[in-house]
Amino acid sequence: MNSAEIITIGDELLIGQTVDTNSAWMGMQLSMRGIQVNRIVSISDRREEIIAALDESLRRVPLVLITGGLGPTSDDITKETLAEYFGTKLVMSQEVLDEVTNRITRRNLEMNENNRRQAMVPESCRVLANHAGTAPAMLFEKEGRIIVSMPGVPSEMKHIMHEHVLPMISSMTGGHTIIHRNIMTFGTFEAKLAERLEGFEKELPAMVKLAYLPSHGVIKLRLTGSGDDPELVRRTEEEQVRKLYSIIPDVIYGEDEITLEEIVGKLLLDNNQTVSTAESCTGGKIASMITSVPGSSAWYRGSVVAYDNNIKAGVLGIDPGIISRYGAVSEETVRAMAERMRSIAETDYAVAVTGIAGPTGGTPEKPVGTVWIAVASAAGVVAEKHLFADDRQINIFRSATNALNLLRKHIISR
Ligand code: AMP
Ligand code: MG
Repeated sequence: MNSAEIITIGDELLIGQTVDTNSAWMGMQLSMRGIQVNRIVSISDRREEIIAALDESLRRVPLVLITGGLGPTSDDITKETLAEYFGTKLVMSQEVLDEVTNRITRRNLEMNENNRRQAMVPESCRVLANHAGTAPAMLFEKEGRIIVSMPGVPSEMKHIMHEHVLPMISSMTGGHTIIHRNIMTFGTFEAKLAERLEGFEKELPAMVKLAYLPSHGVIKLRLTGSGDDPELVRRTEEEQVRKLYSIIPDVIYGEDEITLEEIVGKLLLDNNQTVSTAESCTGGKIASMITSVPGSSAWYRGSVVAYDNNIKAGVLGIDPGIISRYGAVSEETVRAMAERMRSIAETDYAVAVTGIAGPTGGTPEKPVGTVWIAVASAAGVVAEKHLFADDRQINIFRSATNALNLLRKHIISR
């Protein structure tokens, strides 16, 4: 058993009402266990679609995981359709009935006909108990192939996967290992990174694959190692990770989905230091990203959203002459913002941002997307100018992430 397909059933998935998170989660779980996911399809709650999708998948792979369409109401028809597909009839399962009755009466609710219908299961299936809800999952076998049908509710699906499906898969895959390592980079772009890693890619051992996953300035480098000897896979992959660190040390900021705000927090916490922010064009975005990190109160003091020049002068206390002479979006202003904020908040570092997020407000000298970022510390102030895009939301987000990255670089350089 080394490949699988996933079928998610539900009209809500097709009209954009529910995002299909089930298959993403299942895909990750399967691939972590060495199973290659061949295809993911989402289909409507229609008998013909269910049969066609199942037919197709069973032609290609030995394992098909299905979610959705197991609710007690008439729009959910997966169970009836599977019974028909596997040429079996629905019978009452006393075990499931007891389980459902238990769940319902524990909540002081009345059992009704719809609940009782949930205890009807195809005679030829193996029932996989669902202790997280009332719809049982079902496992079918056909010509050596395995089909598992699970409820669509993500928590119930995960419960059944952990309880029944994943242990079964681990016992069947027999030692084939897949290990993913994610190296997080920031401050470069995909084409440039690929150029720098050309030699690295050419020399990659056959058991390790590299993928570039860019998202809003962060490029995740995913290394996937696979083989039958787990220790060899782990060691070979570790060597490649070390190699990456030696080739692109300037852009790697962490591993395994860590964010810039989390890494900044970790560095500050390790050094027992603090930071504050003075934000103009980001309007508190940096503060919001930072305070989303649990425990940030240990290293973050607060922000002044100095959007208007009167706040830059009145609250932050910047010399109004600087703003009138150089403009609100200038190196002089951003430096003064960072210095003043550091002194007001009494923090080790202060980050300041001022820019033109757009879509209006640009000039030939300072077009939309012009952003100045500064970090102040006891060592002085560093400032950087960026020219981002035309899009307001992108400019705000890029300003915030670049500010966090400048802070990160400033901390580690000291
Ligand atoms: P069902 O098993 O079809 O009754 O699904 C119950 C609920 O689970 C739906 O109303 C959705 O909110 C959710 N759901 C169903 N399928 C998915 C899916 N593929 N991803 C995320 N949520 C889902
Ligand atoms: Mg449904």
